Amino acid sequence: MAAGLAASGSRIEDAFWENRLAEKIHAQLRTGDDQNLEAALDQLYESDPAGYGEFIYAIEAAIECSILTREDRGYDVLMFAVPVLTWSRFSIPSGPVAGPVLANVRVQLEAHVLAANVQFVLANCLFSPDQLPRGYHLTHELADKLWKAAVTGERELHMNPRQLAETGRFLSDTRYLLGAIAVPQGKPMFRWQEIGRTGEDKSAGNSSGIKFSKQEILLAWRSQGTEALRPLFQGCAFELLIPDGFFSAWRMADRLARPYSMHATVEFLQSTLNISANRLRAVIAPFYDQWLEEYRVSFTLKDRDDVLYGIVWALVGDEDENSDTVTQIETALQECGIMHTTLLDNRFLLEYCEECGAPLFPNPEGEVVHAEFPEEGEVTPVHLH
Ligand SMILES: [Zn+2]
Repeated sequence: MAAGLAASGSRIEDAFWENRLAEKIHAQLRTGDDQNLEAALDQLYESDPAGYGEFIYAIEAAIECSILTREDRGYDVLMFAVPVLTWSRFSIPSGPVAGPVLANVRVQLEAHVLAANVQFVLANCLFSPDQLPRGYHLTHELADKLWKAAVTGERELHMNPRQLAETGRFLSDTRYLLGAIAVPQGKPMFRWQEIGRTGEDKSAGNSSGIKFSKQEILLAWRSQGTEALRPLFQGCAFELLIPDGFFSAWRMADRLARPYSMHATVEFLQSTLNISANRLRAVIAPFYDQWLEEYRVSFTLKDRDDVLYGIVWALVGDEDENSDTVTQIETALQECGIMHTTLLDNRFLLEYCEECGAPLFPNPEGEVVHAEFPEEGEVTPVHLH
């Protein structure tokens, strides 16, 4: 069906396949097991990349959005995420969020991000990536709880802190608030979907009648939402990304977290080693499992081979070995002031430290090694290894 959808010749045929595919996916999500969906995805990955893309998209849609009925009225519901990029030389917080903080975030979302008069609920938790539900049906389960709470007009969904996984400690990481929006069917959910009617809202200079672009909304959210979120990020630098549908927000965060963590790393190295960026060198190398999975970027002193620190630049979404990932990495390095880079083109295999599980990083000689940061008085709190 996904292959049929990818090959479809019209919107009407799209709808035909989409409806049937959605029914099948829902049946699988109800079994509480992801195995069949994963097996089907694996099969399509090699045989039909376009069908694979449609299938992923259909699974994600079935998980994050739906239509619920309450008191004979139909509601569109969507699980959404509020992503935040952050870094700290100390630990980055996660877990329960106090009521007053959540209430302030709510006010700013209402004022700057969501369409007028939407019902929405927020989970009272700042999720680290490790704490997001794992797999399709668990994600769907959380979405279902959030949808129901949103439709009934609840404002806060209580998460049991004891059920949250432990969070890995990294210099730079992502955090999420999660929630759900419910609107009468067909109404806008986000502010960028609001269209001014003719004669109304003369201030809208835009002839399409769209009141605010996504970019304008992001800027407003950054300037107003940052203060509301600050109590959650004591001792951290942080940057708000645009709230959006769960999977879209997640992928966007994964993408932007890569240059962000590179900036964080270079800033960290400069301040802890008390050197400027032009004394550092970066080594970039591709790492493979069955396919290209990620690049690993090591940092050394310019005239030394020891790897001081490394970061993983994972491929996200539909990126593969044909994407211009190396250019992106090099651009990000230049923006950080790193002028010396070495690109290795060997095919490295994904290797990890047997003791601690940390990824191994390429040194300038083309060997994979453990990053070893010099022990200095104050740098211990970071997961450096
Ligand atoms: Zn180790």
